[in-house]
Amino acid sequence: MDLKINADDLNSCVQCGLCLPHCPTYRVTGDEALSPRGRIRLMREVQDHGAPITNEVRDAFDTCVQCRGCEPACPSGVPYGRLIESTRESLVAVGELSARPQRLAFGVLARPRLLRFGSTLLAVVVRLRLAPKRLGLPRDLPFRRTKHSASGDDVFLFTGCVMDAWQRDVHHAGQRVIEAAGFGVTPTADIAPCCGALHTHAGLGADARGRAEATIAALSIGGDRRPIVVDSAGCGAAMKEYGHLLGTAEAAAFAERVVDIQEWLADHLDRLPEVKPLDICVAIQDPCHLRHVQRAHAATRVALAPFVHRLIELDDDGLCCGAGGAYSVFHPEISGDVRARKVDAIDQVSPDLVASANPGCSMHLAAAGVETAHPMELIDRALRGEG
Ligand code: SF4
Ligand code: SF4
Repeated sequence: MDLKINADDLNSCVQCGLCLPHCPTYRVTGDEALSPRGRIRLMREVQDHGAPITNEVRDAFDTCVQCRGCEPACPSGVPYGRLIESTRESLVAVGELSARPQRLAFGVLARPRLLRFGSTLLAVVVRLRLAPKRLGLPRDLPFRRTKHSASGDDVFLFTGCVMDAWQRDVHHAGQRVIEAAGFGVTPTADIAPCCGALHTHAGLGADARGRAEATIAALSIGGDRRPIVVDSAGCGAAMKEYGHLLGTAEAAAFAERVVDIQEWLADHLDRLPEVKPLDICVAIQDPCHLRHVQRAHAATRVALAPFVHRLIELDDDGLCCGAGGAYSVFHPEISGDVRARKVDAIDQVSPDLVASANPGCSMHLAAAGVETAHPMELIDRALRGEG
């Protein structure tokens, strides 16, 4: 079967195995088929030698968290993210992998009113304790959200879909921080409601490309070239890869405008006032899509350091927390095992709380009892003297 993987990309793996310790599914199972090397070998067998799609093969591809921890660890520069995205899209297209539940659920993401309405209903269900526990839904889903309002047109603040419905306060905090540096902010709100990151993750390639095209069009009206600041690591990573996803010069130019909010702030720190740091010790959890895809995790430390008493590093080489888009919903067992390793690493350093720049990671960790906050919430609190 043609998995539509570029042959050079596929052949770039020399099967050395140096990526294995960086793979969360291999670490918790010890199963070679659930490692990057094993998955690449299976891709070759399927694409180059016509091997059948057995349950084992399907499971190997389906259980990949797509954290991409294997990419920076690979001395040969194998673009694993592209391999697994092509594989999943090809298998979904011929019905060898099911993405029907995701397609149904994600259909609402680009319809912000419906999403907000559904989220409010969900908030009721969660308060009444009627939601299945395995979904790991936050207990504090909001009933109401403060409206977005633009303060100027220096930068866009991308607000997205689920994060805007469930964690809009983080966007407000990020906006206040950017404004404190003297810049006017236009929240994208309903004009660009969904970047397509979750669709890409699920193998829904055509839907993802549709979301990308709509996002580019909405944020480029009249030749708009403003920077697009993103406070969700997963969305930022997806938008920075639009050039590859769509293969057009326009998409590549758009991707150049995308900047993670920690990256942006690290470059503008001198414009913020000096304030008393919050009297807390904060452990940093690097979202995989910030660390392994955007490779912008150093900026979190630069941006956050002046605003808290102490930053603490986790001793786990940035291993994934197991959230992985909707992965924790569809693979609760393996996702829970991966998270347990992260929680152990957190417990070892006993922080006051954990800073995470990705909504999926923070919700996944919070469901295990870890107190989390977005770096922008902490910086905003310090700037407002809420120590
Ligand atoms: S992906 Fe890279 S590190 Fe992993 S086995 Fe292949 S060449 Fe080695
Ligand atoms: S993307 Fe993550 S889970 Fe998938 S093979 Fe690479 S390291 Fe393992």
